[in-house]
Amino acid sequence: MDDCIFCKITSGQQSADVIDEDEKIMVFKDIKPSAPVHLLIVPKKHIASVIETKDEDEELLGGMILKAKDVADSQGLKGYKLVFNVGREGGQLVDHLHLHLLGGWTDK
Ligand code: 5GP
Ligand code: ZN
Repeated sequence: MDDCIFCKITSGQQSADVIDEDEKIMVFKDIKPSAPVHLLIVPKKHIASVIETKDEDEELLGGMILKAKDVADSQGLKGYKLVFNVGREGGQLVDHLHLHLLGGWTDK
């Protein structure tokens, strides 16, 4: 997807503050954080939203949650929120699947 900002970030065409990366998933800081720690867990495969996911994406979706857990642990977070905004009515502004990891409100 040539005009997709998250495709540009995951392919290295656009910079981001990358926290973690593997073959399928990249984690980077949200440019406009809504919490002291606000990370985005983003698959490298372009899928527009949860609405567009298929049975074949089951492993990827599970992998996103497991990645969020591992990154939260490495950031020292003992509790956090994981949020998918789905569609415009659900507050989704970037049409590339992503999971918000929000935390860091309390002392560790
Ligand atoms: P959505 O509302 O689609 O669930 O969330 C999209 C998120 O992506 C927003 O929190 C927004 O701040 C973040 N975002 C949008 N553009 C960029 C960007 O170019 N770089 C980074 N790191 N985050 C972005
Ligand atoms: Zn994309």
